[in-house]
Amino acid sequence: MGKFKAIVAEKMDDAGIELLKQELDVDVRIGISRGELLEIIDQYDALLVRSATMVDGELLDKGKNLKIVGRAGNGTDNIDIHEATKRGVIAANTPHSNTISACELGIALMLACARDVSYADKDMKAGNWSRNSLEGVELYNKTLGIIGLGRIGSLMATRMKAFGMNVIAYDPYISDERFKRFGVEKIEELEELVKRSDIITVHTPRTEETIGMISYKEIELMKDNVIIVNVARGKIVDEEALYHGLKSGKVRAAGIDVHAVEPRFESPLYEFDNFIATPHIGANTADAQKNVGIAIAQQVINALKGEIVPNAVNLPAMEREELKEMKPYIELMENLGKVYYQLHKEPVKFVEISYWGDVSSNDTNMVNIAFTKGLLEPVLKEGINYVNAMVMADQAGISVQEKKFAENYNNYSNYVGVKVTNNKNEVFTIAGTIASNGQGKLIELEGFEIDVTPSEYMLFIKNKDVPGVIGQVGTLVGEEAINVATMHVGRKIKGENAIMILTIDSEVTKETLAKFKEKDSIISAKSVVL
Ligand code: NAD
Repeated sequence: MGKFKAIVAEKMDDAGIELLKQELDVDVRIGISRGELLEIIDQYDALLVRSATMVDGELLDKGKNLKIVGRAGNGTDNIDIHEATKRGVIAANTPHSNTISACELGIALMLACARDVSYADKDMKAGNWSRNSLEGVELYNKTLGIIGLGRIGSLMATRMKAFGMNVIAYDPYISDERFKRFGVEKIEELEELVKRSDIITVHTPRTEETIGMISYKEIELMKDNVIIVNVARGKIVDEEALYHGLKSGKVRAAGIDVHAVEPRFESPLYEFDNFIATPHIGANTADAQKNVGIAIAQQVINALKGEIVPNAVNLPAMEREELKEMKPYIELMENLGKVYYQLHKEPVKFVEISYWGDVSSNDTNMVNIAFTKGLLEPVLKEGINYVNAMVMADQAGISVQEKKFAENYNNYSNYVGVKVTNNKNEVFTIAGTIASNGQGKLIELEGFEIDVTPSEYMLFIKNKDVPGVIGQVGTLVGEEAINVATMHVGRKIKGENAIMILTIDSEVTKETLAKFKEKDSIISAKSVVL
């Protein structure tokens, strides 16, 4: 099979393009017209854009081979996510790549506000020496109020603690655990945060709730000489209210990178030297641009290799660390998902995935998706991927639910058990765990306890629990030249049926399976390919 093909339709850092070229055939067509793109898009597996290319239903229809649309940057307004999801096309962006740059600009503005840097520079160049009148304040020992403890808010917390600041934060949408992780005091009400802070910095998205979040009432409640910083989005700090705060002297200074209207060339706020404005440059660093290019290239490569795309927007978002922790579960459960339809033919109507022990405290959405993808893969083959797995399950009338239990399951400190109910109301069960060495294990199948590290080719044999079966199977695999890596036996109660799972080097043919089934003591023999 030839290399996958990618087209780069907008400007991207060279480092990203170089990375793409190592793995793919890449056409760099910066600024290509929509007409031409529509004409040639069917040749490509991946499309890389920034914010100018409209990726809509029409383009996605023409791009029959598209598997991923990579957006080098943050927003995805130009990509119709719903249309992409319907077609199983991954849409990914790079939300992490500019967070440090944005955070550092926030810090720069904070320091500039505390030490009148911007005014001092202008004043000195005007021929003055105002050493005595320019009196700043220290950040040390002051209270920093962070609104929104997400990616940038948490970077801010970590960094400003190094300045000796007392960091408090308001974010009603995250767990207490996150506040603890960053050593930040959780504040329940915005009012309390604005009353207690010497410096307030905003790091929320712009939503209906956050527009005007800092307005007249909040500024009124603030301490005198407060500093306000906004490198998040325009309008979160109401500009009229800020104007009055600066005019009255209540606000010592404001450092603002994002504005109600952008671009903007004049504003009443520009009358104040202590209104320190930058033209939305939070992400504009050479490092961020390079990171964005590399990050999007890596995600495109991952997607084409069928690996996990950490910042796919039509998949649950996961922090890098969290993803690292959950990756073994994602891989294991995708494999276990593949087993049902290779053993049974009856259509599934219900899947219940139960998480026990440590794993239950994690975000397991992606694991549910992986199991569902695995479940449908033997039936839908290439038609299924992480993006459309849940949509396809829904279309097939399969409902997927999860349950969580904090306690251990028997001796397992983490355990994922799945009940698959078919249209005849028969229940198939399968369970896995991650061993302490990170190895995924199949530990239960249809009530039989086993301990198998899944491998690409396996042979599942159900047999009568009578003496001599292992010998018979051994002879047959020898005769059929099947190279066996491991063999596991499981049974429920002595004398009842038992199972044998063999991990082998190649797929077993139908003819060979038939020979197994000829044996009296063998009830069924199935090949399972992962
Ligand atoms: P994020 O999604 O990681 O974090 C946002 C946090 O805000 C979340 O923890 C969320 O729970 C919290 N939040 C949402 N609504 C809230 C509310 N009403 N009150 C309190 N908290 C609330 O986002 P991020 O990557 O940290 O980005 C933060 C902001 O910075 C975004 O608006 C983003 O667009 C902006 N940004 C700006 C630049 C720039 O160039 N200036 C660059 C990058 C990001």
